[in-house]
Amino acid sequence: VLAKNDADEVPAISVQGLVKTFGHSSNQITALDDVSIDIQQNEFFTLLGPSGCGKTTLLRLIAGFELPDSGTVLLHGEGIEHLPPHMRPVNTVFQSYALFPHISVADNIGFGLRMLGWDKAKITNAVEKMLDMVRLSDLANRQPDQLSGGQQQRVALARALAPAPRVLLLDEPLAALDLKLRKEMQIELKRLQDQTGITFVFVTHDQEEALTMSDRIAVMSAGRVLQVGQPKEIYNAPEHRFVADFIGDINVLPGQVKHRQNGKLVVMIAGGSEVHLPDDGIQSDSLFVAVRPEKATLAKSGTGALSGVVNNIVFFGSGTNIHVSLSDGVDFVVQTQGSETGLSLGDAVSVNFADSAAKVLRN
Ligand code: ATP
Repeated sequence: VLAKNDADEVPAISVQGLVKTFGHSSNQITALDDVSIDIQQNEFFTLLGPSGCGKTTLLRLIAGFELPDSGTVLLHGEGIEHLPPHMRPVNTVFQSYALFPHISVADNIGFGLRMLGWDKAKITNAVEKMLDMVRLSDLANRQPDQLSGGQQQRVALARALAPAPRVLLLDEPLAALDLKLRKEMQIELKRLQDQTGITFVFVTHDQEEALTMSDRIAVMSAGRVLQVGQPKEIYNAPEHRFVADFIGDINVLPGQVKHRQNGKLVVMIAGGSEVHLPDDGIQSDSLFVAVRPEKATLAKSGTGALSGVVNNIVFFGSGTNIHVSLSDGVDFVVQTQGSETGLSLGDAVSVNFADSAAKVLRN
């Protein structure tokens, strides 16, 4: 198995300057608006974004179901424009994983291999290996309608993995499963990816799923890639307001740059309090400052610069979110552990956080 993220090797997938539009003149939709991404070999790479942002279109261009208006797709360094979908060394798993209903699990898994003309012994061998890998050896002779949703999804995965594609594209494959099963399958999928060393390109609109499973995530909005990074980078250092809002809960406060000195920004936020932030070259003097709810604390006094009144207390199991209405009307959420906050609705409180907990966002 190859080392992950080895920068020296040829990317498994390199898309450069991809543009894809649908429709004509007055009602033209730009589904992909100049998208460039390198996905490394053996990576679990996730395309994350809201409905309609272009995730599926990007997968379909890689798979060859659509052709781009402009831009290129390289697989392992080679142009593949001329290759129809079935000739590309990629396989796709869709959300609707339609198994063949009247044949056994084993025959479903071997189906594509027969189409490829593999000989019988080699197919039997590959099917056994796949059954073992997705832990369905005991159910090899069942028909799909005798399986649970999660088991059916595992058959679909085994079927897609059986021909040993170099790249597996997965379009919201877990969306149809209930939450508990989905969580189990997330771990299962990650294990399969580790075991096979196949490059996975995974599409989801579920940020938690993306954070749990991915080596790297590309966050997309309106046909563009806004940020690419490891889950921790995307969560801890979102560069755009959209990314910050989309991934987890976050407080976003409008701020004004008071001055810039020695690589630092001094930013004034609500109520006149100051935050000192690293100056990463942002041009505008009006910007947004973001703070994760778990990085802030509350004190029982309404006197600090960032002060307000508790207007909601929401217990969610492992912790509690306390919503504070700041003096300028902005809602600020602070997350605490456990269920006892010692606070009541209407209490005057002040919000505190370290400068290092605050991030500057591009709008
Ligand atoms: P979802 O999560 O809902 O599947 P997505 O991020 O995968 O969304 P796409 O399916 O790639 O988004 O769609 C991107 C945009 O392109 C949308 O505005 C969609 O309506 C449009 N689009 C996609 N396919 C076509 C098509 N065949 N004809 C016209 N418009 C299309």
